[in-house]
Amino acid sequence: MTTNIVELEQITEPTSQQIIDENRDYTLFSWSVQNAANPVHLKRAEGVYFWDGDDNRWLDFSSQLINMNVGHQHPKVLNAIKKQVDELCFAGPSFATEPRGTLGKKLAEVTGLAKSFFTLGGSEANENAIKIARLYTGRNKIITRYRSYHGATMGSMTASGDPRRWPVEPGMPGVVRAFDPYCYRCPFGQKVESCHRECVSHIEEIIRMEGPDNIAAILVEGITGSNGLLIPPDDYYPKLRALCDRYGILLIDDEVMSGFGRTGMWLATQHYGIKPDIVTAAKGLTSGYMPLGTVIVSAPIAEYFETHMLYGGLTYSGHPVSCAAANANLAVYEEESIFENVETQGAYLTHRLNSIEQRFACVGDVRSIGLFSVIELVKDKVTREPLAPFNGTSPEMGKLAAYLKSQHLYAFTRFNMLWVCPPLIITQEQLGNGLDIIEEGLRIVDATLA
Ligand code: PLP
Repeated sequence: MTTNIVELEQITEPTSQQIIDENRDYTLFSWSVQNAANPVHLKRAEGVYFWDGDDNRWLDFSSQLINMNVGHQHPKVLNAIKKQVDELCFAGPSFATEPRGTLGKKLAEVTGLAKSFFTLGGSEANENAIKIARLYTGRNKIITRYRSYHGATMGSMTASGDPRRWPVEPGMPGVVRAFDPYCYRCPFGQKVESCHRECVSHIEEIIRMEGPDNIAAILVEGITGSNGLLIPPDDYYPKLRALCDRYGILLIDDEVMSGFGRTGMWLATQHYGIKPDIVTAAKGLTSGYMPLGTVIVSAPIAEYFETHMLYGGLTYSGHPVSCAAANANLAVYEEESIFENVETQGAYLTHRLNSIEQRFACVGDVRSIGLFSVIELVKDKVTREPLAPFNGTSPEMGKLAAYLKSQHLYAFTRFNMLWVCPPLIITQEQLGNGLDIIEEGLRIVDATLA
């Protein structure tokens, strides 16, 4: 009898192609023309690797949307989830639970802020951060930057400068945009060695023109992620912080991608010695094991809501299983010295990227901080003409992406850029292997352009 059941299961187990077909036939894929969606069947995973349905092992240089900081299937996080599931799967957001309080306390400790409002992901965190800033200041407008992504819900999408916002426009009213600290292609035509930080001073002009008393917050990514790793000069954040203080404007630091060890610190802005008024986070908060986002607010904002209504709530806010996953994940960062590994491997990565920049004609710029990095490709190093247009692609970028895929290296490409953002547990050997594959891909691009 038992044998028959096993045989039946074997017969009915779908093939990899059937799984892909069912996904394609019955589900919609994000940010994709549906007939161009070409998903890999991800069957199992461990550490920095995952396996497809044909048992090919892939090296994951994307950390699955720059998210799985402790890598795939970490036993400590899995055990914490299992334990929490056995004990208590759900509590409504008005109840107190042990994992929720523990997590709030830890987040206050590592950010220097006061209290967390939990969401399900980064988009919702930014939605709520904007709402909280408006409630607290009584002001309406939000300044964000053009090359930014803050999420895909209506408000967060409008707050983004990324072209992905275009279809929802006009979207949420009150968003005003500023230029970015994109030193390789400075919007002000300056050089970082000699500029006057026009990337900050023009924001002051925007504030004056929009009316300082109308502006609730400036919302920025700690380090811009999906628009190409824009690492600001050392004095950018101190100047931006001073600007906010001068006009009573809140600084909201979106650390959804750049936070929780990706740059080697809890928050990317900690590299610059400043403290935001509000931090939003998700992704590396649980390393993707469970959906969770947070809005962490300063003591004065927390104090304000002691006596004022917090107009906000979500059924799954403070979900006990998500909070338990986050607590275990944050413990892994410390117990396994993950940030130290980011520093060590980040130094190796920077060294390899600098060498790549020197040796390949198609590489215009490389930018990295910790294990957060991008290679920007150009047709010509002198003119800096991008290898693919803004918000577009090109045959050369297509060829590079296809080569990496053929070698089972999973890395994110967009416009004229290639991201190297592996799980933070990666070893030098694994990092080196992936970079060797990337070098071979760049050789192919160089040959195409020659
Ligand atoms: N903010 C930043 C900086 C992000 O990179 C992302 C997603 O990539 C988001 C917000 C949105 O987060 P989520 O996809 O969890 O809603």
